[in-house]
Amino acid sequence: MEKLIELDKKHFIHPTSSIKDQQANGAKLIIEKGEGIYLTDKKGDVYIDAMSSLWNVNIGHGNKELAEVAKEQMEKLAFSSTFSTFSHEPAILLAKKIADLAPSKLNAVFFTSGGSESNDSAFKLVRHYWKIQGKPERNKIVSLKRGYHGVAAASTSATGIPEFWDMAGHMESGFVHAETPYWEGTKTSIDSIREVIEAEGPETIAAFIAEPIQGAGGVLIPPNDYFKEVRKLCDEYGIVFIADEVITGFGRTGKMFGMENWDVQPDMMSFAKGVTSGYIPLGGVLVSDKIHDVMKDKSMGTLFHGFTYSGHPVAAAVALKNIEIIEKQGLVENACKMGEELLKGFKQIKNELNIVGNVRAVGLLGAFELVADPDTNKRFASDLKVAPRVIAALHERGVICRAVTYESTDIICFAPPLIINQEQINTVIEKLHDSVAAVQKELN
Ligand code: PLP
Repeated sequence: MEKLIELDKKHFIHPTSSIKDQQANGAKLIIEKGEGIYLTDKKGDVYIDAMSSLWNVNIGHGNKELAEVAKEQMEKLAFSSTFSTFSHEPAILLAKKIADLAPSKLNAVFFTSGGSESNDSAFKLVRHYWKIQGKPERNKIVSLKRGYHGVAAASTSATGIPEFWDMAGHMESGFVHAETPYWEGTKTSIDSIREVIEAEGPETIAAFIAEPIQGAGGVLIPPNDYFKEVRKLCDEYGIVFIADEVITGFGRTGKMFGMENWDVQPDMMSFAKGVTSGYIPLGGVLVSDKIHDVMKDKSMGTLFHGFTYSGHPVAAAVALKNIEIIEKQGLVENACKMGEELLKGFKQIKNELNIVGNVRAVGLLGAFELVADPDTNKRFASDLKVAPRVIAALHERGVICRAVTYESTDIICFAPPLIINQEQINTVIEKLHDSVAAVQKELN
């Protein structure tokens, strides 16, 4: 263990981690194996993975069927290119399967290896779409404050959390951010998008992108009428609407795709994470028939955009099996049912303890806010680090969760594997109760 921690410090630059913290304290956990909703570390301590790791291990850990499919595909065809119209069966069948599951007008897929690549690809494809129609000036992307769209060049800029731009000094030009509907409400947010569009010039806007539910921003669920209004606004200005379904896709919200909760069809949809339950990297962008038709008609020569691993055969085979498991085991329905139980549990705790603010969940995507005064929603001073302390208390009790603390919020996020059962939900709730109660006691 000590040797591994030393090597980690010396050689491993961790993503989205504090380098100072790593050097001072070493790796927080060295995980050895996963089974179902549980992770076990090298010391043998077992944790409930209440975040599905990075909101992605939808079918749970240790599924042997996916391992077998990967082995079979690797032995048959580990890799071959999909450039220059070379193709192979796993990628073709996966594209067809995802098109069948997606909203009816989205039927063509561009594959990537993850969410950031998917969103960067969405922006390039949408700019291409406008360019081949003789409108290259339509190149700006509107997104929402507190939205998270990844860390590649363009997706970092679309992300509405300034900490991600500051890391390397700035964000790219051509990205503008409007108010999020969660705190501001539908009208203010829609007005703010309209103001941004008008200020930039409607003829310069290529697309609007948003997550159905803002995940990394703190599981911020929009009002029910919000996306219908977004759809109307995009139609009014002829702007392409991209739904970022990287977290919400493949069952997370109790629907196959998050946007189904509001019965709204986007023009493009990016996905990743749950498509393979994280067993292997894969992502993609779906485009509408309208966009695809324009590309078929007007795109000349080579489409100069492609990743070596676009449509990787092993990743595609794993994705097909993963989706089959989600469907066969009824995991979308289970997410819906268990999500209600999770929310019921949150509400119980809120009734019993007096530092709990808004609690919410759609399917198995939930949030539990901590506030100094639940009547006025007054936030705690950020130096009290209330949410990180609850996360630490949960950790001690064997539950891995994530805190969101931007702009002095104290939000605990939950996104357990979609296979979670009632008894396991009860355990999560019990441990959350005890953790919040322990922190409340320290604060008094
Ligand atoms: N979009 C959303 C909504 C996400 O939550 C994430 C990652 O958390 C991404 C995009 C980026 O995906 P990746 O980390 O696979 O690049």
